[in-house]
Amino acid sequence: MIIVLPKENAATAINKLTAIFGGHRDVFTHRNRISIGGITPDQLPSDIRQMATQIITDVPKAIQSSRLLHPENEIIKLPHTTIGDGSLALMAGPCAVESEAHVKKMAAIAKQGGATVLRGGAFKPRTSPYSFQGLGEEGLKFLREAADEQGMDVITEVMDDEHVPMIAKYTDVFQIGSRNMQNFSLLKAVGKTNIPVALKRGMSATIDDWLNAAEYIAAEGNHQIMLVERGIRTFDNTHTRNTFDAGAIAALRQLTPFPIIADPSHATGDRQLVSPVGLAGVAAGADGLIVEIHDHPEKALSDGPQALTPTMFKQLMKKSQAMHDLMNDFEEVNA
Ligand code: PEP
Ligand code: MN
Repeated sequence: MIIVLPKENAATAINKLTAIFGGHRDVFTHRNRISIGGITPDQLPSDIRQMATQIITDVPKAIQSSRLLHPENEIIKLPHTTIGDGSLALMAGPCAVESEAHVKKMAAIAKQGGATVLRGGAFKPRTSPYSFQGLGEEGLKFLREAADEQGMDVITEVMDDEHVPMIAKYTDVFQIGSRNMQNFSLLKAVGKTNIPVALKRGMSATIDDWLNAAEYIAAEGNHQIMLVERGIRTFDNTHTRNTFDAGAIAALRQLTPFPIIADPSHATGDRQLVSPVGLAGVAAGADGLIVEIHDHPEKALSDGPQALTPTMFKQLMKKSQAMHDLMNDFEEVNA
């Protein structure tokens, strides 16, 4: 249950409610709202019941990930990028960090195209144990140096909770991969840090599964969470690697204060499809895009078929900014 209080009385009322219900139930507060688990309105002191401007009884379990508790957008600030403030955050880089020279070259291309966050996996969750597994910590050093040279932020995947402190030394954002969306010990471990987390949607996760996974992070105190739609498995993934769920982006905008990022690279698996699907993500309301790029996709150590060439990438960056501006214009007209 969420009790919405008039701003002027909120602090006193919340103190009173916390004194009564805190300690033995789930109690979360945000500004003039308090969420208390497992009680009904008749259990509230009558003065508070009368004072409340609204009492919401139908609330999801993932309450800290819900706009019901936190109506305004959660804004994430990185040194070079702000996510969720109404701007479009652009993230790009190779699927994997392949070498020092290569990631530096990719960083320069990403920056020229307008991206401010450099991606690149140093620990790769590959479907086959015989595929390239990543350069490990050395790769993180290359990635960090490449980003610093260009004045960019870093996003990179953490696959194992034991790696969290080590990867924290190099990254600005922890990426939790699709295959780890419900790795609860990993979610708790990144939740204990103060580093933003990009939580990719599990390939068969419902929107509620995904929000509950985000809740594991938020419940540890870290609310700097972005949700990455990267496509789900459906009955037909013959011509697309996954099925991009634009509807989920639109739905999440209503449901959660956390920013939403679209990943058209993993959603499609085919560089020809990345641009149209990325634009659809922006049109559906994404706060940012993350895409894979490669100067010689045919030689890429992972995910070559979906890597944008530098020219394709620069075009998509321009188009996505234009699409985002167009959506903003209409929002202003409708306001
Ligand atoms: C990646 O970003 O390279 C990756 C492995 O993504 P996902 O977890 O979405 O498959
Ligand atoms: Mn990839």
